[in-house]
Amino acid sequence: MTSIQKIHLLHKLYKYRALGYEYIAYEHNLTSKPGTISQPSATLDALAHSIRNCHLCPLSKSRKNIVFGEGNQRADLMFIGEAPGATEDETGRPFVGLAGQLLTKIIENVLHVKRSEVYVANIVKCRPKNNRVPTLEEADACRPFLMEQIELVKPRIIVALGSTSYHHLTGEFDTKISQIRGSVIDFGGAKLIPTYHPSFLLRNPSAKRDVYHDMLKVKSLL
Ligand code: SF4
Repeated sequence: MTSIQKIHLLHKLYKYRALGYEYIAYEHNLTSKPGTISQPSATLDALAHSIRNCHLCPLSKSRKNIVFGEGNQRADLMFIGEAPGATEDETGRPFVGLAGQLLTKIIENVLHVKRSEVYVANIVKCRPKNNRVPTLEEADACRPFLMEQIELVKPRIIVALGSTSYHHLTGEFDTKISQIRGSVIDFGGAKLIPTYHPSFLLRNPSAKRDVYHDMLKVKSLL
């Protein structure tokens, strides 16, 4: 089974769990394309509406707002970060704090596209307290929503921002972001390019040069 098939399989199993199933008998077509068993949302708005009261993981207890994602719903380019921070939790919008402002500068000054032309989301839709890294359980619970977002937007290029994003998107938990950043990886037909998270750049400005080169690669593929 390929990694993308595993992701689709997990997608379906988590949807079953969200519907209340604790056990499911083997179905020969469980690994078939998304949408053949479960009912995917027809639009991003419908998906956002469907998870507005989500309590599938413990992050629901402390969040103020679900941070679904935003941008061009048919974007060629999608950025996926780790999790909402305090400003995002307050506003319900992704990447609007300091790291978000830096991401916007990177998009607009290096890629020369408006931020509103790309799509921005996170691995989990609710803020982990004190900005801790989301747990595997939390990321797994939220993955079906992200996978559905990706399927609806259909980006040609996905930029994984930081190690948490890269690890949970690919399942390659043993690979360091410093080793893999700037690589172009097949992700179910889209091109996945990992790079450093803007929060990391705020703490380590010298890494901006690496991200600049990664973005030039992204630009060459747009
Ligand atoms: S992080 Fe995702 S799975 Fe967890 S409560 Fe929020 S929307 Fe639901």
